[in-house]
Amino acid sequence: MLQPLPSHRVPRRAFLLMPLAAGALVASLYRRERKMPDAAAKGTGTEVDLVAFDDKGEREGTLHVQQIVKSDEEWRKELAPDEFAVARKAGTERAFTGRYWDNHEAGLYRCVCCGTALFRSDEKFDSGTGWPSFWAPAAEENVRTEKDDSLFMERIEVLCKKCNAHLGHLFPDGPRPTGMRYCINSCSLRFAKA
Ligand SMILES: [Zn+2]
Repeated sequence: MLQPLPSHRVPRRAFLLMPLAAGALVASLYRRERKMPDAAAKGTGTEVDLVAFDDKGEREGTLHVQQIVKSDEEWRKELAPDEFAVARKAGTERAFTGRYWDNHEAGLYRCVCCGTALFRSDEKFDSGTGWPSFWAPAAEENVRTEKDDSLFMERIEVLCKKCNAHLGHLFPDGPRPTGMRYCINSCSLRFAKA
């Protein structure tokens, strides 16, 4: 009598591996799409002057560019969900959970949305808050501030000048020489090692 072929084994294993393969494919596509945005990329909004920096934090000159204006759908495609929630929807990451609060490497922190140079390791300090903290931006020209009355507090919001990404808040209790503390979400930043 013929034994039934154990053919079901092969397709079954293939079937089990399929989600893994699909997951790996999605992950690789996702990684490919998450390349660094270019700070000199053309926008469609108001014209602004920015200061360009190399990854060592050295000034390279002035950029005259248009602000970047994109729809939520467009940003959603380019950002991870937590980056979108913080940078585009003014969210706040939980303290001590971000990728840079404890980063002590030398380099430049760029906008996660548009690549504009925002902060440098030279001005970073340990604030003990669990968020990356800086006593000054890389260049005053590259950020803008706005009054923020949300959550029953009067705070100063810090935004990217090029794309209006929400970065964090500014407090007057920082160290010398400025006495200012830029309390910034890791989610809004992309670190470039010097
Ligand atoms: Zn930006």
